Amino acid sequence: MRKNHSVAQTILILFLAAAFLMAVGCANKKQPTNEADYDVIIIGGGMGGLSAATHLATKGLKVLLLEQHHKVGGCTSNFTRGDFTFETALHEMAGGGPGKADRALFKLLEVTGVDKKVELYELPEFYRSIFPDVDVTMPGTWEAWDAKLKETWPEESAGIDKFHVLCSGLMGDMLTLKDLFRETGFKAFLTKAQVPFKQKTFYEWKDKTAQELMDECFTNEDIKAVVSQLWVYYGAPTPESTSLLMLAATDGYLTDGIWHIKGTSQALSNAYAERIEELGGKVIVGELVTKINIEDGMATGVETALGNTYSARYIVCNTDPYQMVFKLIGEENLPADYVTKLKEMRPANSLFGVYMGLNIDLKAKGYDFAEAIYSTTDDTTVLYDKMMTGDFANGATTITVYSNYGDPIYAPPGKSVVVLHSYSDYDVWPKDQAEYLKMKEEKANELIGLAANVIPELANPNNIEVKEVITPVTLNEYTMNEGGIIYGFYMNLDQWQKIPNDTPIDNIFIASNWSQAWFGVSATQINGWRAARLILDREGIE
Ligand SMILES: Cc1cc2nc3c(=O)[nH]c(=O)nc-3n(C[C@H](O)[C@H](O)[C@H](O)COP(=O)(O)OP(=O)(O)OC[C@H]3O[C@@H](n4cnc5c(N)ncnc54)[C@H](O)[C@@H]3O)c2cc1C
Repeated sequence: MRKNHSVAQTILILFLAAAFLMAVGCANKKQPTNEADYDVIIIGGGMGGLSAATHLATKGLKVLLLEQHHKVGGCTSNFTRGDFTFETALHEMAGGGPGKADRALFKLLEVTGVDKKVELYELPEFYRSIFPDVDVTMPGTWEAWDAKLKETWPEESAGIDKFHVLCSGLMGDMLTLKDLFRETGFKAFLTKAQVPFKQKTFYEWKDKTAQELMDECFTNEDIKAVVSQLWVYYGAPTPESTSLLMLAATDGYLTDGIWHIKGTSQALSNAYAERIEELGGKVIVGELVTKINIEDGMATGVETALGNTYSARYIVCNTDPYQMVFKLIGEENLPADYVTKLKEMRPANSLFGVYMGLNIDLKAKGYDFAEAIYSTTDDTTVLYDKMMTGDFANGATTITVYSNYGDPIYAPPGKSVVVLHSYSDYDVWPKDQAEYLKMKEEKANELIGLAANVIPELANPNNIEVKEVITPVTLNEYTMNEGGIIYGFYMNLDQWQKIPNDTPIDNIFIASNWSQAWFGVSATQINGWRAARLILDREGIE
């Protein structure tokens, strides 16, 4: 009895001490100056920066967004070659759209008015999953998804139901924690302390991998491979990837819908930029930020490669954290443990891509799918290693037939647009320009050869009117992300929390796919909202 009493007392003392320390920590936040050209400067005009700037401008803050490229968008962009327009990045966007259950993204577009400037359209199918002995097309709603899996693998029915329950449960848990990032002090401590009891699915699965999830739900290796197929969107192979991402993303797509943007993702980027200006903000393209000025531990503004200095009360970084810490802020201005942690964290992969305009009509030839994934094996670790070492012929590739999306922007009648993507690592690409270009051409042909297992017409060069190839070097050049990384940190069990949207410098925030709301076109916009929300909280604006 006495022992129990002292344990309870100890817990109470620890609880109160933690609450006190957190309250003190919170109260110690430094206030930004009131004198500045702008309330907030946003460095970078990718989805994270655009979203942050728009949410801030919507609430009346004076914002300046500086983008180094000649147009906004970062990854979410497009380019034109001859008759063809190519989507740079977006295959499929999760997160909701008009007329569907909407638990995140579309609401954020609505509150900023960006929804009025873009047209989202829903894709009927999720993906076609192709292995040497399996070829299954998965539909885009839970009802149809469950039915398709049960029809193909009736003996796995109980596991299919279990997987569905886990996906919904995890998403439900995560939604109840969606404001935790705003909580401080005792409130945050209390929310976290209750997680094992209130967010049971999240608590049970936070330390388990996607492979453990597959093994828990299914016995047949083929169904595991098909259900976990979108590991090729998520970065890490299933034995290393967090199960949380697979659970949340699958539920996000199947409950909220699978979306694309009329006019490509550039249309969404442009809509954000237009809205920022309508709200009195300023968007400047072609201006590279070279430094964040720091005085007495607080940011005071930025300097740019054009020789301009702009002052601001807050800074939002849409750059990768390496540029933010080592180039813009300077590691000497940050606590050593923050810098050390960043150095220890592992970034995710980059991509290799082949963008083709074909002079044939793929749909008329019977290829009516939009998104297929072809894999040479169901061993995701083998595939990951093959792709990352540049052995594209023996890896996996996404095959996106954009001209089947029904948007005439991609190709004129009778022609088609096909894009292939495979994971890639910056370091396998030669530094010597001639060797780099040679390898680019060879590897493009390898990847085309792999995709020709699904569309044999790709093997005939006469069918290819336009071909553009991107590597991690290209992605690094356009986004300035180190190593051309496009997913932020590697999503394994140790790193799925990524880094918070706030930083040790009280008026610098992060809005990019490196921060806590994860990555992808939809989640990165949520990161933008989170960075904006933290600033608004500091300003006392609801
Ligand atoms: C080929 C490809 C396919 C993809 N497919 C999908 C998909 O199907 N679905 C999905 O959801 N996601 C997909 N993604 C991922 C998604 O596009 C990204 O996660 C997201 O768009 C990243 O947004 P961001 O704002 O964090 O960064 P970025 O898009 O990298 O933007 C950063 C911006 O900051 C600018 N910048 C950097 N440094 C400076 C500086 N010093 N000064 C001024 N400007 C600076 C850059 O120029 C850039 O515009 C894909 C990505 C790629 C590349």
